[in-house]
Amino acid sequence: MPVKQAEFKVSNSDPALCPPPDRPEYAFIGRSNVGKSSLINMLTGRHSLAKISGKPGKTQLINHFLIDNEWYLVDLPGYGYAQVSKSEREKFAGLINGYLTSRPNLLCIFVLVDSRIQPQKLDLDFMTNLGDRGLPFVIVFTKTEKLGTVKLQAMLDTYRATLLETWEEVPTWFITSAITSAGREEILDFIRPLNEGFVKERIATTKRK
Ligand code: GDP
Repeated sequence: MPVKQAEFKVSNSDPALCPPPDRPEYAFIGRSNVGKSSLINMLTGRHSLAKISGKPGKTQLINHFLIDNEWYLVDLPGYGYAQVSKSEREKFAGLINGYLTSRPNLLCIFVLVDSRIQPQKLDLDFMTNLGDRGLPFVIVFTKTEKLGTVKLQAMLDTYRATLLETWEEVPTWFITSAITSAGREEILDFIRPLNEGFVKERIATTKRK
């Protein structure tokens, strides 16, 4: 089922000012220029909900979008932009960590990876960090229409082998393209049952009290 309603809620640099954690929430993050804004627009069927970046690494804000009045899609700042100072990088890490540790309603983090680039230490370290903290995540390969079937499969094989050096099993992943909309249904179908679980859990909690 496609997204019916997508509404920008708030942008901020202080996790304490995010909306109340009263709805399930999914965060999208990846290296600058990975295609995050394009993916968010593709998922929501909007042309310009998230701004396609002219200047990578510029947005350092946590953006909340309310989807179908039911769940939050959170656009986190892109990491790994080479031309930022050490103090900027530290500020960024503080912002992301503050966010990740303050959202009890955060059900899954979508880590975006450019399918045309070999596995990068920065992305793998980010995933390891999430795993160490028990934060659930999945991988989203972007721009996959650029690769033919054979190259795409080779990339997935390489990624699988690399991940299995660290992980017992490979996390769930999605093959996407903002150009062809590949992966949209799969991601929305992944989110839907998690939303239902979240609501049920809250109802159960309400009953117990
Ligand atoms: P962000 O910085 O991660 O938000 O990335 P953007 O969404 O701004 O995209 C960065 C660049 O990659 C832009 O030039 C996009 O047009 C391009 N791009 C994003 N998604 C795709 C895709 O699925 N396929 C192709 N071919 N290009 C894409």
